[in-house]
Amino acid sequence: LLRWKGLWMASQGPDHRLDRVLVHAPFGRDGALLCSILQQAGLNALVCSSLENLCTTVREGAGAMLVGEEALHPEGIRALTCLMTEQPPWSDLPVLILTTSGDGYVRRPSRLRFFEALGNVTLLERPLRAETIISNCRMALRARTHQYEIRDHLEAQHRHTEALRQSEERYRTLAEALPQLVWTCLPDGNCDYLSRQWVEYTGIPEAEQLGLRWLNLVLHPEDREQTYRAWMTAVHDREPYDLEYRLRRRDGMYRWFRTRGTPLRNAEGKIQKWFGTCTDIDDAKRAAEERQELLAREREARRTAELLNQVGPLLAAELDTQQLAQKITDLATQLTGAQFGALFHNVRNEQGESYTLYTLSGAPREAFANFPMPRNTMVFGPTFRGEGVIRSADITQDARYGKNRPYRGMPEGHLPVRSYLAAPIVSRSGEVLGGLFFGSATVDVFTEQHAQLAEGIAAQAAIALDNARLFAETQNARNALEQSNAELRRANEDLNQFAYSASHDLKEPLRTVAIYSQMLQRQYGAVLDEQATQYLEYALQGVKRMELLLRDLVAYLQAMDEGEQEIVPVPGGEVFRKAVENLKDIIEESQATVDSGPLPVLLAREVHLLQLFQNLLGNALKYRGEAPPHIQVSAESQEGMWKISVRDNGIGIEPQYARQVFGLFKRLHGRNSGYEGTGIGLAICQKIVERYGGRIWVESEGAGQGSIFCFTLPGRPNA
Ligand code: ADP
Repeated sequence: LLRWKGLWMASQGPDHRLDRVLVHAPFGRDGALLCSILQQAGLNALVCSSLENLCTTVREGAGAMLVGEEALHPEGIRALTCLMTEQPPWSDLPVLILTTSGDGYVRRPSRLRFFEALGNVTLLERPLRAETIISNCRMALRARTHQYEIRDHLEAQHRHTEALRQSEERYRTLAEALPQLVWTCLPDGNCDYLSRQWVEYTGIPEAEQLGLRWLNLVLHPEDREQTYRAWMTAVHDREPYDLEYRLRRRDGMYRWFRTRGTPLRNAEGKIQKWFGTCTDIDDAKRAAEERQELLAREREARRTAELLNQVGPLLAAELDTQQLAQKITDLATQLTGAQFGALFHNVRNEQGESYTLYTLSGAPREAFANFPMPRNTMVFGPTFRGEGVIRSADITQDARYGKNRPYRGMPEGHLPVRSYLAAPIVSRSGEVLGGLFFGSATVDVFTEQHAQLAEGIAAQAAIALDNARLFAETQNARNALEQSNAELRRANEDLNQFAYSASHDLKEPLRTVAIYSQMLQRQYGAVLDEQATQYLEYALQGVKRMELLLRDLVAYLQAMDEGEQEIVPVPGGEVFRKAVENLKDIIEESQATVDSGPLPVLLAREVHLLQLFQNLLGNALKYRGEAPPHIQVSAESQEGMWKISVRDNGIGIEPQYARQVFGLFKRLHGRNSGYEGTGIGLAICQKIVERYGGRIWVESEGAGQGSIFCFTLPGRPNA
């Protein structure tokens, strides 16, 4: 087609049609005559002066050729034949040859053969009528028009094919430039093109994958059926296709792709082709999967924590060890989803002997009754040594299983255990209190979460068991304490009883001695000599001292007495004034001054507080120095208690005796020192403050420096 174009119609457009008749007749004016005949008939005619001229003009286009026979000498015929064979396939230029009448050489068979070689030849025998020439030319031109139509049609088709080829090439170039793997399919769904990227990725030549062969060649086996169905549905419904699948890379690895196919339609809406891309989403998908997994794990962890949080309070409330163990076992078995669970824990009896108890859940006690306690085998040992959680999908396949005599595995008749989970129960002190064991007859029951739950429950169980044990121990200790307290109380009561009756019983004979001694003095005083009078005086002094002792002893016993009545808060100031009132005589006699700052309301019995003030003020007055006594009482709050101080300017106490003075019958002054006393007063004071949780002590710089007696008692916070 191209060759023809170059030779035949170099200067003409594809639509150009030339319907001119080229005329060549060498004799005289034949050519011009023929031309004018044709022109008069309205045809387009052109005279060519020579055969060469004819050949050149034909190449520029012609509807027909009218040639006189006489021009067709052998040279001319060859040139024409050559010209005619150069014609394009659609062209068969009509050639009208005017022959000479009679036996002109045209009719010779050899020449006729030559003419035939020219193709579409019509011989017109002279003499001719103008009409004949005209009608023949018209016929020839009609045939030529028909040829032009064929040419136009061929050209249009060619243009179309070319355009198609170009567009195909364009989008292939585009497809190869895309980062995605690109494919196209025919409307029936069969693949007809796979891009270079696809071929490079899969490592399989395009031709081997076309049609539907790619499905079995490069698609992940698990994705094949679904992909096939989705693709066929898209083809059938003529709807876009969007899917994720895994494609095998040349190295055998599968990566996730997202594929999208769009039907390309022509102007009538008919699907011409499917155009599709595959985008590698493997990294994104894996990241999303990882995220999902992380989220799931986090959810699981939160759920585990929530479950464990619920377990804590349930266990903490139970202090009875056996019931606690049952609760732990039931909860743990339920939460781990085990078929049955057991808790083995060590207990110590009152004699300090240790033995193992067990509780079960999910199985009756009889199920284990005939088996010995789990021993330090390779399976159980790590748990009893507190070595952490053991989780096995199938314990019978575990390397540690069946290694120990005599059973080499589970004893006969044992509940079947395949899935196995065990967690040690380790106390805060590191002591292994026992272990939690779970089993199921099916394999691979326990998940990582179950293991975490078991570990968490074991930790809480350790605390709860520790607490229960501590509770039992304190309970025992408290019982023992209560018992010895009761015994002590009884002994105290006995002692009090004895002291009371003794003091009463002693008073009686003492009175008798006193009365008869006084009578002796009164009635026989005159007759007694000086020595006897002295003896009698001593006896009377002894009686007096004895009376004092008995009085103080009774006071001391009263201070010791627990007393049943309720403690009502007493205003310290009032009680202090009562004590001063009671000591009025001695105060006046010694010209003492006694004053006090504000005193708080104290939580003590009034009689006790009165006794305290009276004893301390009494001592301050008694153990005075040269100067008249000056006594000052003050109060200050100290560590939630009230501290009351009684300060005097008396003889003072050497620091080394500061503690001793509070002892029963302890005195720093002998009988002849001039300071009378029994050594009971401060002992009473100490007993009283200690009953209320307080203390008593003395601060003194030493002899002659005066003393400060301080005591603490509970009271109202505000003075
Ligand atoms: P008593 O006063 O009957 O001897 P106390 O128990 O009251 O017994 O006192 C014990 C001893 O403490 C007294 O003998 C005395 O030596 C010493 N004592 C007590 N109060 C004072 C004081 N205010 N100043 C100096 N010494 C004191």
